[in-house]
Amino acid sequence: MLYILYYTILGLLFACLASFFMVVGARTVQNQSFIMGRSHCDHCQRPIPPLALIPILGYLLSNGRCQSCQHSIPIKYPICEAYFAIFSLILFMTFSLSESVFYIIYFAILTIMAASDWSDQWIPDRFQVLLLLFVIGQFSLNPSGRILTHSLFAVGICLLFILLNFRFTNGIGGGDIKTITILALALGPYQTAWLLFVATSFILCHIIIDKYRGRPLAKGFPFLPYIFFAYPLIFYIL
Ligand SMILES: [Zn+2]
Repeated sequence: MLYILYYTILGLLFACLASFFMVVGARTVQNQSFIMGRSHCDHCQRPIPPLALIPILGYLLSNGRCQSCQHSIPIKYPICEAYFAIFSLILFMTFSLSESVFYIIYFAILTIMAASDWSDQWIPDRFQVLLLLFVIGQFSLNPSGRILTHSLFAVGICLLFILLNFRFTNGIGGGDIKTITILALALGPYQTAWLLFVATSFILCHIIIDKYRGRPLAKGFPFLPYIFFAYPLIFYIL
């Protein structure tokens, strides 16, 4: 019984953190402070009532609409909050404490980056630097022979995507290439291959669903949200 209460509180904490990370990512690309200023409706700009700010539950209680203007709130918010909370909890329960902390921090940085990419199709360099510093920190704490393989692979994949970017001008963006290179350095060839495969499969599913619903094909997809969704799954595929 006590375990259920413990994991419920932990899950709620992860959902709150996800909500905060989404705010950090979205506000940073809009040059707004993520510490000062109340959360407001993107449509009418009025402050969101405290009850509606509760992760996941707030969305359900307000019927997915702003209480002031009744404009719909994007469903990506409760989905990302629930996704982050569930998979962080699973990572926490599956791996050792030190391993799970590392994986969850990666997941947190990816959540911030996904929110930025979603909001403005742009990922500020400071997040790439944060991710890189974290990867370097991880290798410093756990030095191993893998670093050479991972580094060579990261350089290779970076060059490959740069070449693809020259060939397909509307293809993958510079921010995506930097993020994938850093993730390749952290994860190595096998996990990165799976990460890209799962993420691109999600994009393909999105295109098929849009086509099925008769929606016009989007000119470009923000790639980081798909990396965010693919990231925790690779630990269970491999
Ligand atoms: Zn509103």
